[in-house]
Amino acid sequence: MSQIKHIWAREILDSRGIPTVEAACMLDNGGVSVSSVPAGTSTGSHEALELRDVDNPRYLGQGVLKAVENVNGILGRSLIGLDPTNQQTIDNKLIEVDATENKSKYGANAILAISEAVLKGGATAVNQPLYAWIYQLASRNKITSNVKIPTALFNMVNGGLHGAGNLDFQEFWVVPASNKSFAEGLQIGVEIYQTIGLNLSRRGAIHSVGHEGGYAPNLFTNADAFEVFIESIKQTNYSLGRDVFLGLDVASNSFYKDGEYVIKDKNAAMDDSQFLEYYKSLYDQYKLAIIEDPYQEDAWDSWKKMVSSMGDSLLVVGDDLLATNPKRVQKAISEKACNAAVIKPNQIGTVTETLNVIKMVKDAGWKIVVSHRSGETNDSFIADFSVGVAADYIKSGAPARGERVAKYNRLSSIELELSSIK
Ligand code: PEP
Ligand code: MG
Repeated sequence: MSQIKHIWAREILDSRGIPTVEAACMLDNGGVSVSSVPAGTSTGSHEALELRDVDNPRYLGQGVLKAVENVNGILGRSLIGLDPTNQQTIDNKLIEVDATENKSKYGANAILAISEAVLKGGATAVNQPLYAWIYQLASRNKITSNVKIPTALFNMVNGGLHGAGNLDFQEFWVVPASNKSFAEGLQIGVEIYQTIGLNLSRRGAIHSVGHEGGYAPNLFTNADAFEVFIESIKQTNYSLGRDVFLGLDVASNSFYKDGEYVIKDKNAAMDDSQFLEYYKSLYDQYKLAIIEDPYQEDAWDSWKKMVSSMGDSLLVVGDDLLATNPKRVQKAISEKACNAAVIKPNQIGTVTETLNVIKMVKDAGWKIVVSHRSGETNDSFIADFSVGVAADYIKSGAPARGERVAKYNRLSSIELELSSIK
């Protein structure tokens, strides 16, 4: 049996230039595994707590030295001598030491960085690639009986809190058909991404990029972004509805106020029924296939109405609604509030809890979308994770910018490796 010998951490920067936590785990054989955690910009209020040094002016109060100290001290010390392949014991220990509902004592950023670093150490202890080790844990928990490369939701245009332009919706996706290989899907994504850039430039629209590498233009309406997509797709060899589909992360928390939604496509604020009619028009006009966070994070009735009227032909994905939280996921399943779930390990704070939520979601027959955050690092952890749990989709932003393509490049390499095993 391997043993954990030492755990430590440091403060590094994420892709937005904001501090985050990187943890390292040394085993008794001297091997070291490292993992860093991402952070959100449009963070939902039901997520586990990201500990920041708000009282300290360095990095404008966004430093993570307290979280680092917690890894170096109480959290890390509690795991010395334990077997890194016993992920559940490791995570239970971290949960027990923190002993709060939302990891607010020592920080979900500190806890998840350790949980992932130990998971990586466990993979080396059993001499397996990370995705294969995750698969082993997932299959033991009856989450899946096969590995699978997910389909990418390529985020071509960034608005809302992620883009410097004027769009209300946060993410406008082009989604390759799920019968394509990952390599084919990646090529499709890149060709369409580059073509969108040329078309935005020709229109004189801003084509610099937002947090996730998608263009961040000023346009007249949100739907205009889809018009640019349609024009661009027509200029490639692909066709909408056959090779590619369109999707959105509306991230509607950011423009919801007092029961109403205000977007530039409409002169007047919309209530949830009027917003539903608007979504139906997007569905009819653009073959919308997937929509994330169409309503605010606590508007349960609005979500239920959407699923009952559009859920047969549209994937309705909960992100801020669910926050990868088992209680919220349970409620959403029993109330039929969505039919797919975003899974972000840092919303809940340990690998084991994330796996448990995935099990609940899969047992309900919903689709799984493993997701990055807007503030990412070059750690490609979620690529291996998505394959090991056989996720249906992955969100890692546009097929551009280092921290985004780190995940896509890792998925390409896993696809190659799996095809050589077959
Ligand atoms: C999202 O909302 O799905 C997302 C990735 O954004 P953030 O990380 O800013 O929450
Ligand atoms: Mg989201």
